[in-house]
Amino acid sequence: MSDILILNGRLVDPANGLDAERDVLLRHGRVAAVEMPGGLRVAKAKETIDAKGMIVAPGLVDVHVHLREPGQTYKESIKTGTAAAAAGGFTSVVAMPNTVPVNDTVARLEWMLDAARGACVKLFAMPAATFGSMGEEITDFHELQRAGAVGFTDDGKPVLLDRVMRAALVAAAGIGVPVSQHAEDTRLTGGCSMNAGPVAFRLGLRGMTVEAESKIVERDIRLLKDIEQHDGLRPHLHVQHVSTAKAMEAIRQAKRDGLHVTCEVAPHHFTLTDEAIGEYDTNAKMNPPLRNDADRLAMIAGLMDGTVDCIATDHAPHALFEKEQEFERAPNGITGLETALGLALRVLHKGNGMPISRVIELMSTQPAGIVSLEGRGTLRVDSFADVVVFDPAAEWNFEAAKTRSKSRNTPFDGAPMLGRVVTTISEGTVVYRG
Ligand SMILES: [Zn+2]
Repeated sequence: MSDILILNGRLVDPANGLDAERDVLLRHGRVAAVEMPGGLRVAKAKETIDAKGMIVAPGLVDVHVHLREPGQTYKESIKTGTAAAAAGGFTSVVAMPNTVPVNDTVARLEWMLDAARGACVKLFAMPAATFGSMGEEITDFHELQRAGAVGFTDDGKPVLLDRVMRAALVAAAGIGVPVSQHAEDTRLTGGCSMNAGPVAFRLGLRGMTVEAESKIVERDIRLLKDIEQHDGLRPHLHVQHVSTAKAMEAIRQAKRDGLHVTCEVAPHHFTLTDEAIGEYDTNAKMNPPLRNDADRLAMIAGLMDGTVDCIATDHAPHALFEKEQEFERAPNGITGLETALGLALRVLHKGNGMPISRVIELMSTQPAGIVSLEGRGTLRVDSFADVVVFDPAAEWNFEAAKTRSKSRNTPFDGAPMLGRVVTTISEGTVVYRG
């Protein structure tokens, strides 16, 4: 960790309402000064970064990644997954609990968060909401939070039973953290491997209906109302990877009703439709699945109008041999950490006129807020020196062969990207140079 001066960049820090040229001094892992251009000329630093023409922003925050450690390090490890995060401009990631074994105890959580795992950016974790993510009995939220949990989820599976989800929301409300829900009524999706619709019909595959997602979102919203009325608590529901217009509308209405609901959308759901599956391309298989174009456009509308709180990658690495099998047998998930910013800038900023400050809000400020990351998601003086410097005008094509991840399961191999990460700094240490 050494002092770093970042000069001549365009600082975009939505938490501060700032989008202007500023010089930034990082010292002892923190933001030491933010000054008008030239204001830090006398400051001395071991390294100076000339950010002329670049955006300087708070490091990106991803509330939804699968790092596969413990148990599946042939797919990814905390070390390689966070290296991919750094290459994508992320300085904070939240690991999901569906590891082997499931992260549902303090000992496992502490093991994951231990510095010995080699994370090069700040690692956070959401342990399982229920033991073994079996959906039956909630874990010890209190003890897990004391050990660093920033929320609870059974991601990969829903918390299906009303009584268990209610108990999870109540327990989480008591300690001020969210319950993140993978909204899928698995009673409706057994044997389904993609979205229901004409593409599934053509391929002869069974499809998941949009109701399988929206029904769980609507049920969870009813639980929030019920808990507010009867328990005097204000639970926080975070809906993971929203993919359907119907679920988006339910969330929009719940926000109007004043409930504490937040949600995330993954880049693939605002970029691709189920047509991307083509002839059984398993690199376009994930859960929730790619939907039709009306749903894709509803994701963009939600991102534009503020219904969506953040972009999260759902980075889900799998080995080649696992993806190279029949579509219905292949596992769900794609990698996403190195393509998220390039897709957001291409599709949302260039394609739909979203201001870059809003992109940063969706990828840093607001995700940091959802899981209450103190001193992150902003470059205010004294906050952590978590910074991404990127060239907003660079057009390039992603090459899966050059990924930092251990896996290459992406539908975006060769896809055009806008905006390229030049430098990523985590707590004052340069962790990636483009
Ligand atoms: Zn999920």
